[in-house]
Amino acid sequence: MLEDLVDKISGKLISQLVIKDDLDTVYKRRPHSCPHCHSSEIVGIEVMGSFEDILLWECESCEDYFLKFDKVYTEKELQCAKGYWTNINDWGYCPKSQYN
Ligand SMILES: [Zn+2]
Repeated sequence: MLEDLVDKISGKLISQLVIKDDLDTVYKRRPHSCPHCHSSEIVGIEVMGSFEDILLWECESCEDYFLKFDKVYTEKELQCAKGYWTNINDWGYCPKSQYN
């Protein structure tokens, strides 16, 4: 999961998340389909402790991540999130059918 990577990986976080070939491709708006598996199940990912909006796109089918901003900005925001911690047990249960 993204939260685990941000918490545990040191060094360049962005290169651990986004496939290297995609690091120069920025999708300012949600891609209509995944460049890899062509699924239309693309969601925005917000990262606690970083930019207070969608920072990355994720394909829910193949779980690849894609950039919304350039790699330098995204890396800076991910590094800002490294000091944050949360307890998943405090989040409460939300059935997937109620996701928005
Ligand atoms: Zn995909």
